[in-house]
Amino acid sequence: MRHDESRRLYDRALSVLAGGVNSSVRATQPYPFFVERGDGAHVIDADGNRYIDYVMGYGPLLYGHDAPEPVQAAVQKHSAAGPMYGAPTEIEVEHAEFVARHVPSVEMIRFVNSGTEATVSAVRLARATTGRDKIVIMQGGYHGAQESTLVKGEPGNVHPSTRGIPDSFAEHTIPVPFNDEETVREVFEQHGDDIAAVMTEPILANTGIVAPVDGYLQTLRDITEEHGSLLIFDEVITGFRVGGLQCAQGKFGVTPDITTFGKIIGGGFPVGAIGGKAQLVEQFTPGGDVFQSGTFSGHPVTMAAGHEYLNFAAENDVYDHVNRLGDDLRAGISDILEDQAPEYTVVGTDSMFKTMFTRDGVTPKNGADVSKAETDRWERVFWQEMKDHGVFLTANQFESQFVSYAHTDEDIERTLEAYKEAL
Ligand code: PLP
Repeated sequence: MRHDESRRLYDRALSVLAGGVNSSVRATQPYPFFVERGDGAHVIDADGNRYIDYVMGYGPLLYGHDAPEPVQAAVQKHSAAGPMYGAPTEIEVEHAEFVARHVPSVEMIRFVNSGTEATVSAVRLARATTGRDKIVIMQGGYHGAQESTLVKGEPGNVHPSTRGIPDSFAEHTIPVPFNDEETVREVFEQHGDDIAAVMTEPILANTGIVAPVDGYLQTLRDITEEHGSLLIFDEVITGFRVGGLQCAQGKFGVTPDITTFGKIIGGGFPVGAIGGKAQLVEQFTPGGDVFQSGTFSGHPVTMAAGHEYLNFAAENDVYDHVNRLGDDLRAGISDILEDQAPEYTVVGTDSMFKTMFTRDGVTPKNGADVSKAETDRWERVFWQEMKDHGVFLTANQFESQFVSYAHTDEDIERTLEAYKEAL
């Protein structure tokens, strides 16, 4: 493959975009390929190379790059008609009604523009509701680029995970290991009266893919209720991907107080949302006194795309298709690993998958042991090889990958062939 044009664009980008990109994960080594266009489950780069795409925009593209016809028609209609007004539109109400109808925890919702915005507002809402400051999060979890959750450490020893965040933010956040009932109980025994919320992805999807062990989410539900704290599920990735239209909370049968969304509910356009019981969400301004606002929030084009996206999923066999391909891909990769690299593991559920290059396997607590994962081997060797074989994976060893409705059995077969050769 030649990458002359991508190289040239990257050199240009480096002088005007920080790191040459607008989101740090895109800065793949030695330089990213620049995308010219998408085509179904594939992307074509600026040099004309074609890749089977499992990045899928980091999760939003449930249908791949060709959205179903009603989505495209709705996007055209709403962009031609406005595209935005700073006044409410019917499509925002319709989209909210759909989400509230299907997701167990949601009676009322506020749409925003990114997953980060959603988790920021969810934490604010929990703090306002309880009058408490502390939040418990999971080690290895990710809730976007927000100050309260960009921390690392363990109870009693927590620090910001990037420069630019005051230590005082870390004082209010307690990261605990996922799937570890004992630690969360200890933390509540010690700080229960100060904890506003436990916030977790129902399936950790940013540290490999780690499912909750039986009963863990219910324990979080019980313990938060006991202590008058809230339970927040961050379903930015799992929302409308895992567990179909009921999302992961439906799959696991545990209903949080607040749910954050992003990605799929915007139908490929920037989005986030905070949903929950009406009495909680109603506290946002203007009805309540918890400040929340956004110039682009509930953007008609996004709402229309998101709404038609979910409608299409309700009326077609979307989840059957993507989940079956996910199963086939995981089974195929598992066979190949057994044969060629038995020390590695394939993880995932529904339409999410990832191969973990860690010789210690994947523990239910933190997912892969980050310190022992062979990240260089994944990022600098295997990922590159897969790309050279025409398969686009997430370059970070810990980020999830996604199968879309546009993927076919032939894509899966070709991907497995590439896996064999690349390994
Ligand atoms: N929460 C989770 C679970 C995520 O995976 C992400 C992003 O990947 C976010 C929040 C932040 O979303 P955004 O990148 O739209 O701000």
